[in-house]
Amino acid sequence: MIEVSLNQIADILEGKLQSFNNAAEDFKITSVSIDSRTVVDSVHTLFFAIVGERNNGHNYIEELYLKGVRSFVISDKAILTDNFSEASFVIVSDTLQALQNFAAWVRKQYHYPVLAITGSNGKTIVKEWLFELLQNRKIIRSPKSYNSQVGVSLSVLNMTNQSDLAIFEAGISKPGEMEKLAKVLMPNIGIFTNIGDAHQENFDDVEQKVEEKLKLFETCERLIFCLDQKIVPNKIQHKFKKTSTELLGWSFEKENTDLFFKIEKKRNTTKFNFQYKGKKYRLKIPFADDASIENAAHCLAFIISQNELSTEVLDAFGNLQPVAMRLELKEGINNCTLINDYYNSDINSLGIALQFLNQQTTSSKKKTVILSDIQQTGMDEKELIKEVSNLIHLNKVDRFIGIGEVFERNKDFLSIADMFETTNEFLSNLRNDDFTNESILIKGARSFHFERISAALQKKYHRTRLEIRLHEMIENLNSFKSLLKPSTKIMVMVKAFSYGSGTVEVAKMLQYQKVDYLAVAVADEGIELRQAGIETPIVVMNPEAHSFETIIEFRLEPNIYSEELFVGFETVAQKLAVRDYPVHFKIDSGMHRLGFCDGNEFENVLNRISTSSTLKVKSAFSHLAASDEAKHDRFTQEQYDRFKELSGKLREKLSCKFDKHILNSAGIERFPELQMEMVRLGIGLYGISSASRITCKPIAHWMTVVSQVRTVGPGETIGYSRKGNVDSAREIAVIPVGYADGYGRRFGNGNARVWMSSQEVEAPTIGNICMDMSMIDVTGLGVKAGDPVELMGEHIHLSKLAKWAGTIPYEILTGISQRVKRIYVQE
Ligand SMILES: *Cc1c(COP(=O)(O)O)cnc(C)c1O
Repeated sequence: MIEVSLNQIADILEGKLQSFNNAAEDFKITSVSIDSRTVVDSVHTLFFAIVGERNNGHNYIEELYLKGVRSFVISDKAILTDNFSEASFVIVSDTLQALQNFAAWVRKQYHYPVLAITGSNGKTIVKEWLFELLQNRKIIRSPKSYNSQVGVSLSVLNMTNQSDLAIFEAGISKPGEMEKLAKVLMPNIGIFTNIGDAHQENFDDVEQKVEEKLKLFETCERLIFCLDQKIVPNKIQHKFKKTSTELLGWSFEKENTDLFFKIEKKRNTTKFNFQYKGKKYRLKIPFADDASIENAAHCLAFIISQNELSTEVLDAFGNLQPVAMRLELKEGINNCTLINDYYNSDINSLGIALQFLNQQTTSSKKKTVILSDIQQTGMDEKELIKEVSNLIHLNKVDRFIGIGEVFERNKDFLSIADMFETTNEFLSNLRNDDFTNESILIKGARSFHFERISAALQKKYHRTRLEIRLHEMIENLNSFKSLLKPSTKIMVMVKAFSYGSGTVEVAKMLQYQKVDYLAVAVADEGIELRQAGIETPIVVMNPEAHSFETIIEFRLEPNIYSEELFVGFETVAQKLAVRDYPVHFKIDSGMHRLGFCDGNEFENVLNRISTSSTLKVKSAFSHLAASDEAKHDRFTQEQYDRFKELSGKLREKLSCKFDKHILNSAGIERFPELQMEMVRLGIGLYGISSASRITCKPIAHWMTVVSQVRTVGPGETIGYSRKGNVDSAREIAVIPVGYADGYGRRFGNGNARVWMSSQEVEAPTIGNICMDMSMIDVTGLGVKAGDPVELMGEHIHLSKLAKWAGTIPYEILTGISQRVKRIYVQE
């Protein structure tokens, strides 16, 4: 980021600089953060305390101060105390607005063209493809799909004078937002990709949404769009008719437009033929789907408008690849963890990938980075190397491997580094024991083909796998949070291997998301989390007497549900001489599983707990028996009333406050008014919603591939007990998944279907499910060995699968056996 002094920033933001430190005014700021977790260079970071719906940046100032951050932009003056004797504060009325004003100022320092892309779909792909296609330009672009109110500002702050083109995405979800983004970006050129119905709920109609989006382009000299779409071209012509903006509409249909692209679709490729300024051109892209063809056309129109048509660029269209915007976590050889990010390499996305590496590395593993040369930055080689080396140091990476000519030339810049000129050279020197017990980030530009490195370091396993999408979990978490008051705490249930989705990886993500508590069923699950470095408070729902000492040793917090348990635990705690040890108090309000009911036992424990200096009640809770079923709503309300009464008695006895909580996932969704001080989220995080208030994303995708396809003649039978009868010749696909994987016998004999991903159809099981294999009837579908199969996921929804088996989603998820490898992805 451009270097600015605090004084200058206060001027730009029209804020008041209040400093406890006299020398602060000239203090140099070189980076900006809005997220306390991502600060690396504390001293020169300026933190904007953004006040969001769910999070308030002011709450993290103390933590940041301890980390060494000294400069803050705030709106809440209550924070100004002498606790921060070395800090400086810029006081503004709205911190998000201030961030945008600062970004707008940064934007104005640069005079090269800014391309802004908006529309419902394709923004990220068009941006990434333009980057790939324009190899000769020095492009600065939004990292990943940073296109929100905050994301756009952060993207702009990355501008430097070493680029000659900036490409930023802008996305909105409600009226009023685009004007703000337009002020930040002040684009010279625009692309409107298309309009769909995402985020429609906040707009009156599609027309209003288009009008709102077009506000982005008011400063543009040129605007690129598709003439063949509905609504968009008319709106554009209407709005820009009397302005100087040049309208560049392209078409696949209208032959007499300047930018008419004649296309010819083949099986997996599409040819474009077009004329420009009297010359004929042709190019080919390796895609045949409509979305890719449209995205390529937007890129082509932009390239023509920039006079960048050349043989090289036209050829580059032939090498376009799908844009994978996600980081993938896999198990590697020798107890290594691999984080794959080999689709792009630039300084900004390196920062993001390093954050993920930090988030996912346990204390017992070393941090390793394998990085390719970073191309197209326009930065001076020495400076680039310095920047990489800075990031590597700041993120405390233990080992660095650089691949490419630039790294090879600068061999000596990092003491922890090994350098190789090419991927081949690295691979031919690779020995089986070169990597052990490391978290390895593998990140490179596409041309380096780092997928080969990943393949070499990956543990080879069974082709049946469960892909866990951490970003969808985060989205589900946020959907539930949106039903809660910002002050309500969240305990997330990670019992039973996080409902089958994997304990440590999920817990790390949740810790990073700053949930207040994690809850496990038994002490062993909690110990595993502590050993992996999880510091979030952990509640053990079923503490067993033999584990009391380890519970205390690992700072786990037991659920106290009986007098016997109370006495037993207090005795052990006294023996270990702990004081005020946190416990949670379970009340039975009608589930009749665990917990205190009104009566002698309850009274006895109340009396003892009120005088105990060994144990301290952190929360009291109860569990709803039927919060997802409308016919039991009266009972649910009664449970709540009973809980309120009994927890009230506890409160009278105790001198300290504690949190009260009764809602599980369905409860949060159906009775948010009963949220009290905390809620307990379980199945909702894992993708199941029980009312239409929230759309939950499926987070677990269970996949395999076809082992073999065979034809079975009429009169034959399929599998054990000859259950599958064949009346006419059938094609049968065998898949390597069976009841030992958790694909139960209940799914056999056509009771369940799988999704054939290549053919995009469902196909039924046939015959009994075997221990390790199942048979699928794929007659007439053209299925081949090696074709991908979805057992559960986007198409075969978890709840559908549960219904087929006559059970509930919980049982399906937790029943997928440990043999099925979990792969974690985060976008
Ligand atoms: C499992 C569990 C939850 C979570 O329930 P969901 O229905 O998955 O949201 C909440 N509280 C307790 C005590 C639990 O055991």
